[in-house]
Amino acid sequence: MLDRRSVLLGMSGGLLAACTTTGRPRLSDYEASSAPFYPVDVRPERIKEILVGLRPGRDGGFRLEAEPFGDKIIVHNYGHEGDGVTLSWGCGTLAAEKVLETGEDDIAVIGAGAQGLTTALILARHGKKVTVYAEKFHPNVTSSIAGAIILTASSYGDVDLDTVARVNALAHTGFDAYENRPGTGVTRVRHHYLNRRRQDMARPDEKTLLGCPFGDMTRPTMIDMSLYLPYLMQEARVAGVAFYTETFRTPADLIALGQPVIVNCTGLGAGALFDDEAVHPVWGQLVRLHPQPEIDYSYVAPGNDGQLYMFPRQTSIVLGGTRRRDVWPLEPDPAETARLLLQHGKLAARARQILPLQVAA
Ligand SMILES: Cc1cc2nc3c(=O)[nH]c(=O)nc-3n(C[C@H](O)[C@H](O)[C@H](O)COP(=O)(O)OP(=O)(O)OC[C@H]3O[C@@H](n4cnc5c(N)ncnc54)[C@H](O)[C@@H]3O)c2cc1C
Repeated sequence: MLDRRSVLLGMSGGLLAACTTTGRPRLSDYEASSAPFYPVDVRPERIKEILVGLRPGRDGGFRLEAEPFGDKIIVHNYGHEGDGVTLSWGCGTLAAEKVLETGEDDIAVIGAGAQGLTTALILARHGKKVTVYAEKFHPNVTSSIAGAIILTASSYGDVDLDTVARVNALAHTGFDAYENRPGTGVTRVRHHYLNRRRQDMARPDEKTLLGCPFGDMTRPTMIDMSLYLPYLMQEARVAGVAFYTETFRTPADLIALGQPVIVNCTGLGAGALFDDEAVHPVWGQLVRLHPQPEIDYSYVAPGNDGQLYMFPRQTSIVLGGTRRRDVWPLEPDPAETARLLLQHGKLAARARQILPLQVAA
């Protein structure tokens, strides 16, 4: 997944499509240049927590299809790597459409991450009787760890472009309904895509963005998953969805369920459960710092040994940018913590240097 896009953008990662298809309004250059970059305080004593998560990668891109399964139908919806939150309303809607085509009313959804909860909620809103079964729930799912910024991409592995266009469009409209609603954790942020090489992103005013000569500016949706996932689960409950803790070891365990239609939203778990060898983990580490209310912007920037991103939240400042394919252990890597603090620190130093000029301007 993401290879073609990575080539297109000259970088790797699930966050870097900002400049391709966001469908979001761009900030005016005036607005962006006149808003100051307050420096992020990256001193080690500011660390609140360090988190590690495994993105559910899949060679060829996410799997969204229905197939016969014993005497049942299974609808697969997994393998979204670093875009599973972004794609939750798009893929959830398309998975729900496949369920609706079966004409069945009693539906099992396996998985309680962003994909499972969204798919369940959409089906319940269509009047279906929905039961979610999952081994883990928030805050112990990958979706709880996500950044999470909503930046869609121009391609997702081999997924056909009509599907990509639909999931991208639905991604934005799905979250618009939550924006700025109290308790959802869904807001917009002034986001900067910093780049050292892309001439097509030249700044008209010839100013640099934190030392990078090129850059793009948008105002995408930013999600605080610590608020959003519980909100979504509560919404699903209110819509009538029932929840059970259950681990499925083999497909036979699923066949034993009473429901005639099963939606598979097991993320990385789908690899072992369905013997899908294309599924693999993409290890990521985040450093969460104590909040700084004055930080009202986010960025994705090039760094040594991978990209860097910074997202501001009410409850923390999220520093990230780690991607390691096929790495499983969930322990944080102290060297990666040091890299994130050092490299984000360089951008913060740049902000500190130019801040007096910006505030005076
Ligand atoms: C550091 C990091 C940063 C990220 N940032 C972003 C971002 O900015 N934007 C973005 O869109 N995405 C981001 N992601 C990716 C995103 O988190 C994932 O793509 C998304 O969470 C996948 O959602 P999911 O519902 O498919 O899987 P999960 O959240 O992993 O949920 C899977 C569910 O299936 C259940 N399950 C699995 N196997 C079984 C089984 N055998 N039996 C029963 N239940 C099972 C689990 O218990 C869980 O409930 C990030 C990920 C990481 C690690």
